[in-house]
Amino acid sequence: MRFDIMTLFPDLVNTVLGESIIGRAQKSGAIEVRAHNIRDYSKDKHRRVDDTPYGGGKGMLMMAPPIYDCYESIVNAYGQAASRHVVYMSPRGPVLNQKKARELASYDHLIILCGHYEGVDTRIIEEIVDEEISIGDFVLTGGELPACILVDAVARLVDGVLADPECYEKESFSDGLLEYPQYTRPVEFHGRTVPDVLLSGHHANIEKWRAEQSLEVTRRLRPELLQKREEDM
Ligand code: SAM
Repeated sequence: MRFDIMTLFPDLVNTVLGESIIGRAQKSGAIEVRAHNIRDYSKDKHRRVDDTPYGGGKGMLMMAPPIYDCYESIVNAYGQAASRHVVYMSPRGPVLNQKKARELASYDHLIILCGHYEGVDTRIIEEIVDEEISIGDFVLTGGELPACILVDAVARLVDGVLADPECYEKESFSDGLLEYPQYTRPVEFHGRTVPDVLLSGHHANIEKWRAEQSLEVTRRLRPELLQKREEDM
């Protein structure tokens, strides 16, 4: 799967996504990620990419033409992708969840637009964007961290990125519930011991305990998920 990120801060994106599992997945070729500097597509001699909003108001808006030219160069270079989807990271969009990450992982090519300042000229959204996605109901200074979060959430569902698909098939949100408590060595830590069932080697009992704990943790930490799960069933 290929990810192209349109941004004013490619170094920020490359640094975050160059580390750990996502960095290794790029090296192994399981995914391709490239950050494109929108400023490289400015026709202004000072490489300006923003201007004041019509109608007044504080702050600057990213102009449509450099973003469009950046988008066009990506499409011309990688136009052969069987399925492509364009996302604008935006606090206005529906909030990202695991279901949406799974849906996005089915595309061959994601193009992600990061806004900055007060955001982007609406006409670029109308012209190229398939959907706006938020990472939460709060406002950040730019779309770069949200884009990295989106790429991480989607890329780890792509074949070959995690060692074993079971890693994501049995974790939080996979079946509408949160993950059960996990333990590793030592058996005792500050007087707290690992539950006996996990040391028993009895697989059926362990599965049963984990299923009960998943329900209990979800009820305690995110009760609204249980209600949603019942509605979806
Ligand atoms: N004026 C915009 C508004 O009120 O909706 C906020 C612009 S914000 C300061 C600048 C950029 O950061 C946005 O264009 C978007 O790309 C990104 N951004 C900020 N918060 C975000 C969020 N919660 N989810 C996704 N992207 C976000």
